[in-house]
Amino acid sequence: MTATMKTFVMKRIGEVGFMEKPIPADPGPNDAIIKTTTALVCTSDVHTVKGAIGERHDHTLGHEACGIVDRVGSAVTLFKPGDRIVVNAITPCYKCHNCQRGFTSQCTEPLGGWKFANIKDGSFAEYFHVNDADANLTLIPSDVSDEAACYTTDMMSTGFKGAENANIVLGGSAVVFGAGPVGQMTAVGARLLGAGLVIVVDNVPDRLKLAEAYGADVTINYNDVDAVAEIMNLTNGEGVDSAMESVGAQIPFENCIKVTRPGGTISNVGYHGEGEYINIPRLEWGVGMAEKTIKTLLCPGGSERMTRLIRLIQTGRVDPTKLTTHHFSFNEVEKAFWMMDSKEDNVIKPVIHFE
Ligand code: ZN
Repeated sequence: MTATMKTFVMKRIGEVGFMEKPIPADPGPNDAIIKTTTALVCTSDVHTVKGAIGERHDHTLGHEACGIVDRVGSAVTLFKPGDRIVVNAITPCYKCHNCQRGFTSQCTEPLGGWKFANIKDGSFAEYFHVNDADANLTLIPSDVSDEAACYTTDMMSTGFKGAENANIVLGGSAVVFGAGPVGQMTAVGARLLGAGLVIVVDNVPDRLKLAEAYGADVTINYNDVDAVAEIMNLTNGEGVDSAMESVGAQIPFENCIKVTRPGGTISNVGYHGEGEYINIPRLEWGVGMAEKTIKTLLCPGGSERMTRLIRLIQTGRVDPTKLTTHHFSFNEVEKAFWMMDSKEDNVIKPVIHFE
């Protein structure tokens, strides 16, 4: 008889639930099987269930998790059963043309570095499979908690890349639209990279308060004031050096272009799930001639990236666990999942504990 495990799946578009599945069989030679200990629910899981990547049946959700190595393939040399590890949401192969070109998140095909809960089962399961384990697993040091480590898998890696892509100028000005968990980490990244003024825009008071706790210099509630006018005021009418979009919507995207000074950079972090086009405000874009750069990203993965992110936790540069608003057992994951949709009880991130 095959041993089974509990998984939390997308049954079809709009429907989730628990399901027993076989524990993954032996990994391929380069791969590993992980026993899950801790996970985070992501708004992307909600997008998936709403149909962002098309119809899926009995598809295990989850891509932000850490655990204990259960089994490794014969060619895996750096990890062994019993190791406490974390793995990024994005697990590139490091062999294909896009990986060799340096675009590892676009592994094999556009967005193809994203494998968990996309092209294979995800990590809301008692066990999950990791491809190319030597390149994608990272040991969690003893002074870093599972909960903190889980934040490196997506929130920190995605948010910090948003800041890295924004060409943060030492002492320069930066704004982040959207103070969800990724937006919070984007703002922290801008600060760590040396921005002299970090502005955060949102309309949820608790999120703006958290942004202040994370070191934002100015927060703007766009329900109260015109955010674009306020940002122009704060920068003597010049606009910011770097604008980061962590919402994934037309208005904040175009506001980023409006508030960026000539030669500045717009870094898109958000997932744009609606409409056929995203529009660019022509005049504020300098009719195409203001030398404003627009950059996009998908969460960078790989063990080198993860090691650096964990180092930032170890040395106290960032405490990502301030994003945690709720704790649940794996049996309660469905409740946590729907909270990420409704945003009820001011949820930012729910942590899921396996036992
Ligand atoms: Zn995520």
